[in-house]
Amino acid sequence: MKTICGWCGRAMAETAEVGPDPEAVTHGICAECAAFFENNRGVGIREFIGQLGAPVLILDKDIRVEAMNLAAGAYVDLRLPEIEGLLVGDVMECAHARLPGGCGNAGVCVMGCALRRIVMETFATGKSAEGVEARQEIMTGQGLREMRFWFSTALADGRVLLRIDRAEVVEGG
Ligand SMILES: [Zn+2]
Repeated sequence: MKTICGWCGRAMAETAEVGPDPEAVTHGICAECAAFFENNRGVGIREFIGQLGAPVLILDKDIRVEAMNLAAGAYVDLRLPEIEGLLVGDVMECAHARLPGGCGNAGVCVMGCALRRIVMETFATGKSAEGVEARQEIMTGQGLREMRFWFSTALADGRVLLRIDRAEVVEGG
């Protein structure tokens, strides 16, 4: 069993214990990344996410996207300068963001948006979320698709860093 830092990808620990899947990898936070989240010293958060291989977006308290790194571009159709200040649902092409009131205001957003919930929780508690599953209806090039995402968060410098761990289309969704 291997543990790597979900943010920077650094290997943290390897245990001899053989689980059902010996190649299994779990995510954690390494000491360096944890120190960055705690003190926000040294590099700025844009510079920090720029160094990461994992796709990461920087969100403010209104859940507007302040920036994202290159890896996040693989999940987003818009180019880097276009996303600044957009609500996260607009950047992710969430179908609910097209409802009246926009991202976060439809009843379904308030009641059921896991993405919104983990970001708000991280702002409120300062605690990181790790690999939280969220289903989102996404407008893709092939039309509306139900997508399953796994997101992680960390609070840094008054912003929430949102990491996209994995995304897949829900078959028949
Ligand atoms: Zn790390």
